[in-house]
Amino acid sequence: MSLTVDSGQTLQRCLALDIGGTKIVSAIVKNGEIQQRKQIPTSQNDAAQAMHQTLAQLLKEYEGQFDYVAVASTGIINQGILTALNPKNLGGLAQFQLKDSIAQHTDKPIGLLNDVQAAAYAEYQLQNPNDVQNFTFITVSTGVGGGLILNHRLLTEPNGIAGHIGHTLADPNGPICGCGHRGYVEAIASGRVIEAVYSQWDDPCDPKEVFARFRQNDEKATVLVTRSAQGIADLKIGLDMQKVVVGGSVGLAEGYLPLVQSLLSEFPAVYHCELESAQFGQDAGLIDAAY
Ligand SMILES: [Zn+2]
Repeated sequence: MSLTVDSGQTLQRCLALDIGGTKIVSAIVKNGEIQQRKQIPTSQNDAAQAMHQTLAQLLKEYEGQFDYVAVASTGIINQGILTALNPKNLGGLAQFQLKDSIAQHTDKPIGLLNDVQAAAYAEYQLQNPNDVQNFTFITVSTGVGGGLILNHRLLTEPNGIAGHIGHTLADPNGPICGCGHRGYVEAIASGRVIEAVYSQWDDPCDPKEVFARFRQNDEKATVLVTRSAQGIADLKIGLDMQKVVVGGSVGLAEGYLPLVQSLLSEFPAVYHCELESAQFGQDAGLIDAAY
């Protein structure tokens, strides 16, 4: 994180921007409170030009009302440049000079972070650091992503890649992922895919019902939930993860976490890991960015 955080930060006014695949949400965040919230859809045509224009417009509208800018964005943030493993998630934006684009319109400090990494950081602030040194936040939503805290520190260096667990192997014979490789988690377990796949079943259902079907040993629903448990077991054994917090529309769907928990408990004890639902709800991105 390039933003210097000191004890005076909470007294400062933050212009928080949450850049997602379909919209940009902006607000002034002061003392953890959201003011002057705005929401602008992101253009899918000529995405880069539209993004430049939207940022210019927002910085003008909030001019004089903030002391620093904090951005949480979907995609990979590396040296101020925004890219994506799956460019479709960003409406076709590739190699976008995010920091430069903002700096053209303000001389205030600018901090940039991947949105899931920002959420991981915010969720970690709710943990007792004496109990939890290694921590993961996982979101299962439109995409699947994660943010890693190792030794109390959010992992963002050297390339901003850490935590992109949606692009790890789930099924070697599975469908092609948005990043171009076959069988990755995101191609099987993201909300978008679940909806597309399950709507084509002989007996279509929404993501919520997937978990009900899992309980009835439905084969496809089983793949999704067992893969989630396996992913958490992988984090525990690979990185000695102590706690995993799960968010996102699928991750927070009723029944999801208890199922993952019960599957994980069938693994040998060394793979067990504390699981919890995310605390920050709607507008989490703005608060996360401000953190
Ligand atoms: Zn992928």
